[in-house]
Amino acid sequence: MTQGITCSCGALLVEDVDERGVRPVGSDGFITFRRTTDYVMCEKCMAMYDVRSLIEKATSSEVIGLLETLAAHSQDDE
Ligand SMILES: [Zn+2]
Repeated sequence: MTQGITCSCGALLVEDVDERGVRPVGSDGFITFRRTTDYVMCEKCMAMYDVRSLIEKATSSEVIGLLETLAAHSQDDE
């Protein structure tokens, strides 16, 4: 099941979100947000989104819940 997140410019930013992380458009790998500096970049407008910014863009409560979990894990890393 695809849970996409769309950039402010209208381009699809993230193709999938699960408990492992997010999968950016055109990527085979997941960004896990283990570090608070991890981010996703839009292929179209080069806007950068960290996990907190993705939460603001997400539209489904399920995706927001997953992102909140990822964000919490990234803050545990010292
Ligand atoms: Zn964009």
